Amino acid sequence: MQRREWLQAAAALGLLNAAGCAMTPSLPAKTRVLVVGGGYGGATAAKYVRLLSQQKIDVVLVEPDAGFVSCPLSNLVLGGSATLTDLGRGYEALSRQHGVRVVRDSVARIDAPKKQATLASGATIGYDKLVLSPGVELMWDGVAGLKAANEQGRILQAWKAGPETLALRRQLEAMPDGGVYAITIPEAPYRCPPGPYERACQVASYFKAAKPKSKVLILDANPDVTSKGALFKKVWAEAYPGMVEYRPQHKAVAVDAAAMSVKFEVQDDVKADVLNVLPPMRAGAIAVQTGLANANARWCQVNFLNFEATAAKDIH
Ligand SMILES: Cc1cc2nc3c(=O)[nH]c(=O)nc-3n(C[C@H](O)[C@H](O)[C@H](O)COP(=O)(O)OP(=O)(O)OC[C@H]3O[C@@H](n4cnc5c(N)ncnc54)[C@H](O)[C@@H]3O)c2cc1C
Repeated sequence: MQRREWLQAAAALGLLNAAGCAMTPSLPAKTRVLVVGGGYGGATAAKYVRLLSQQKIDVVLVEPDAGFVSCPLSNLVLGGSATLTDLGRGYEALSRQHGVRVVRDSVARIDAPKKQATLASGATIGYDKLVLSPGVELMWDGVAGLKAANEQGRILQAWKAGPETLALRRQLEAMPDGGVYAITIPEAPYRCPPGPYERACQVASYFKAAKPKSKVLILDANPDVTSKGALFKKVWAEAYPGMVEYRPQHKAVAVDAAAMSVKFEVQDDVKADVLNVLPPMRAGAIAVQTGLANANARWCQVNFLNFEATAAKDIH
């Protein structure tokens, strides 16, 4: 008997459980709705497909992380008014209350014509409809040297909530009073247009209380604040005069991790004590790999009536 056949037979007999085996034996051969990604998008879709179908449509959700962490609230961790634990939830309620089958794994491949997904563990699952919600991918090549600087833990992004959020907070705590925190913003579109400006406010709020001689520099590739400009500028002027400085038309093209500096397309280099460099972004890797990124090879065009990808049927 082949290993795969043994595993399948053992799974059918209930001899294995997910925790004890890299395969996912509880995975059905097919589900009506397969959800990829348990962030706000995927978890919400999974819950409401169950609710609105009066539990008649079976839903499998595949997510590699043990729990959900709210990305929008992660700026509060940087400001010091929340912990990462405050922002987290387990997926148990989705299973227990709503009957979603949550599988801890990630989807490695999607065969759109065959309507089948292959998980990293090697298991496969068919579907009638796929909800693809893998979030965004950072385009490291957009800023030379950034990937290596991230791997060294020197220059972080923290644009997905998690360990990097905590690491960036630690950098802010370690920064001496009188230091400079600089955030660079890529050209729009990127995940959450107001997010970087909001982050600047949160960091400034922390500095005002704990390191009042410090500075927040916002270096924006765009010609102006891309979202809620009047509101942010008012707050910077009134609540953080002399502390927050906004500079438009600063498109980051390279970083020097040793010198802690950023190089721009046109403007002079900038040095900072804490650098938070956000590169350009695109749709999550699995969406790009599946051939769905048909807008500038970065984003997935959809039919806005049902959010179906224009590049593949039955993937939403
Ligand atoms: C600092 C900041 C502030 C923000 N503030 C706001 C705000 O105030 N309001 C607002 O509406 N939005 C805000 N946003 C945007 C918001 O966070 C995102 O729009 C939202 O998280 C997107 O949800 P999602 O489910 O599409 O992606 P994500 O939350 O990124 O979730 C994607 C999930 O997919 C999983 N995944 C990825 N690939 C695979 C795979 N191959 N197989 C299985 N699973 C996979 C990941 O592990 C992840 O859990 C903010 C973002 C940031 C960074």
